[in-house]
Amino acid sequence: MDYKSYIREIENFPQPGISFKDITTLLKDGEAYRAVIAELAKKLEGKQIDCIAGPEARGFVIGAPLAVALGIGFIPIRKSGKLPGQTIEADYALEYGNDKLAMHADAISPGQKVLIADDLLATGGTIATSINLVKQLGGEVIGAAFLIELLELNGRDKLDGVEVLSLVQY
Ligand code: IMP
Repeated sequence: MDYKSYIREIENFPQPGISFKDITTLLKDGEAYRAVIAELAKKLEGKQIDCIAGPEARGFVIGAPLAVALGIGFIPIRKSGKLPGQTIEADYALEYGNDKLAMHADAISPGQKVLIADDLLATGGTIATSINLVKQLGGEVIGAAFLIELLELNGRDKLDGVEVLSLVQY
């Protein structure tokens, strides 16, 4: 399927100079959304994965259905202050802005094999921070899966050698 034809590009959002890849136009099409999840699941077939962790908000939109498709659990990575239990936190820099990400301290058991999922890999800051959090809990990051990868930002290089899977590249 030509996923790009379902993704809308919005110029100068959320800041001048940024060409935002809007996946809401893909998500509202049930066939395209299902095809994305099915293709990611197929590409991950045979890999030993215990659970998927995804950063809010769009990491949930890819990571949670992918976890269901693979029959494994999903762990939310959230902005600081949102999770109710005891958390660990790490700072991160976005393509546009700064923030903190958090996970429940008991979300992952040491040695668990974790796949990280998000909608889009840009500079890699969000996923580098997510990897850091999973590793702090003793998890083993076995890969990172995305719908979209922005190649010119070289986000892969920030991910500490973690294998990257993306379906659409710009
Ligand atoms: P990074 O941390 O620079 O790799 O940015 C990736 C994060 O920012 C992801 O969680 C994305 O949801 C979000 N993001 C950055 N650029 C875009 C975009 O063009 N479209 C949708 N999300 C984006």
